[in-house]
Amino acid sequence: MGELEAQLVASFGPAFERNRPLATLTSFRIGGPADLFVIANTEQQLSAALAAADQHDVPVFCLGAGTNLLVSDRGIRGLVITLGPGFAYSNIEGNRVVAGAALQFRTLVERVVDKGLAGLEFAEGIPGTVGGGLVMNAGAFGGEIARVVSAVHGITAAGEQRRLSSDEIGFSYRRTVLPRGFVITRVEFTLEPGDRHALWTRIQTIRAQRAARQPGDYPNAGSVFKNPPGDFAARLLEKSGVKGMRIGAAAFSCRHANFIINLGGARAEDVRRLMDLARDKVRLATGILLEPEVKLVGEW
Ligand SMILES: Cc1cc2nc3c(=O)[nH]c(=O)nc-3n(C[C@H](O)[C@H](O)[C@H](O)COP(=O)(O)OP(=O)(O)OC[C@H]3O[C@@H](n4cnc5c(N)ncnc54)[C@H](O)[C@@H]3O)c2cc1C
Repeated sequence: MGELEAQLVASFGPAFERNRPLATLTSFRIGGPADLFVIANTEQQLSAALAAADQHDVPVFCLGAGTNLLVSDRGIRGLVITLGPGFAYSNIEGNRVVAGAALQFRTLVERVVDKGLAGLEFAEGIPGTVGGGLVMNAGAFGGEIARVVSAVHGITAAGEQRRLSSDEIGFSYRRTVLPRGFVITRVEFTLEPGDRHALWTRIQTIRAQRAARQPGDYPNAGSVFKNPPGDFAARLLEKSGVKGMRIGAAAFSCRHANFIINLGGARAEDVRRLMDLARDKVRLATGILLEPEVKLVGEW
């Protein structure tokens, strides 16, 4: 790792850090350090960092806004790359939209709605970046990103640029299948013309529904489990007596049964044990094995 570190110091300067604590870069406010950490602002920088890590056999993890992650208390071994402001742009021409992977999804929603473009309203209030939203095939209120994406651009593990059309992305419910180590740099969307006033009204409705449902007062990572086919994880968790259950400083929210909240100083291990306990309880009570939506990353 020493040679890689020297290369990263030379090309990233102050945008390189060693043993960078990750808790403050996640919405859960949980997680140990990344061995090596860089903020990439250009495709050239990103491509060089990926190729160098690949040559030295150092694992790479790409961090978005950290809103769907449980980073282990021991942190992430290898290199963590996050994309900086250089990737937080959008271009809108007619109904074709190109958004940089680091742009906040909520900013993109506001920009397209302001132009009278329909198709992304469902994403109002989903935190995180365009890149993270694409990888998670984020969705809500009956919509999902897969339906409006036409292509994705990114850099492969070997540092090469590549464009994938929407049918090469392997979209399914909260899941995509991308080439190993692929870092998304920008996403192309095709939207529909819509009525600006009606779109803003829809946005206000979604905002109000989210505010009523979600526990906004404690750090969390959104829904912990995916909905199983034909049912809702929150309903199953509530039925199985999980609501309000607590380990250490992590607890299932009393407001939304599928949210785990950090009451202050929770450890990743607390959250993981709580997830395991909840899965066991639901399986015993209903026979259904819930699948995590939150991604567990790092060294466990
Ligand atoms: C309060 C709250 C509400 C939420 N509501 C919803 C909801 O309604 N619907 C929903 O689907 N989700 C929801 N989420 C979960 C989360 O916001 C989404 O999954 C979001 O799209 C994740 O984006 P991110 O940038 O935070 O990605 P991260 O959490 O940082 O990463 C998620 C995955 O994407 C990968 N990734 C990120 N950026 C890139 C990139 N540029 N290239 C390659 N890989 C990348 C990461 O490696 C990781 O595997 C919610 C979360 C919170 C905290």
